[in-house]
Amino acid sequence: MLIPWTKIRSWDCMACGDCCKYFTINIKYEDWVKIINKHGTWAISPGVREFYIKRRPDGRCVFQHNLIGKWVCELQDVKPGICKRWPFRIYRKPRRGKGKDAIFQYRNENFYVYLESFCKGIQYGYPSTKFVKQVIPEFIEIYLGNLKNQVNSTSKIFNYLLHPQIPQVMPRRIL
Ligand code: SF4
Ligand code: SF4
Repeated sequence: MLIPWTKIRSWDCMACGDCCKYFTINIKYEDWVKIINKHGTWAISPGVREFYIKRRPDGRCVFQHNLIGKWVCELQDVKPGICKRWPFRIYRKPRRGKGKDAIFQYRNENFYVYLESFCKGIQYGYPSTKFVKQVIPEFIEIYLGNLKNQVNSTSKIFNYLLHPQIPQVMPRRIL
């Protein structure tokens, strides 16, 4: 179910890994090219109009791995757009009604922002400043295809592993 952003206090990945287990991972041509250039073709199945990342027998994406009890994605530098955007759904038009509770103005444009209720990283309530000023704008930049390096839309675990000298709270987000 889609939840409009105004009902959500904050979002931070709990590293449960369920999204990479229970959802179909259909990727676009440009993502396919990036992945096969780096990892070869073994992990991708062709579809009619899209490509699909294969799953293990337990349903998990073949690029998902367990790291100190958290689930991490191996494709950080070539992660497909569908994975970068999860669990956000961003549209130019509202999904239902007039979308007053989903409208988000960013750089003088209107977007309609929702989150998938399936995600365990959602905390409901009045939107926090960080959620409004940092998290949602970053997901909109991903939606627009502008973002190269994920910060607030991905796991803190990678910042922690890459820059352990920077003091920070133990990471929780993996995707
Ligand atoms: S994005 Fe949500 S569903 Fe996916 S691993 Fe994080 S908390 Fe779990
Ligand atoms: S985020 Fe990574 S592990 Fe998860 S579905 Fe996408 S490619 Fe697979």
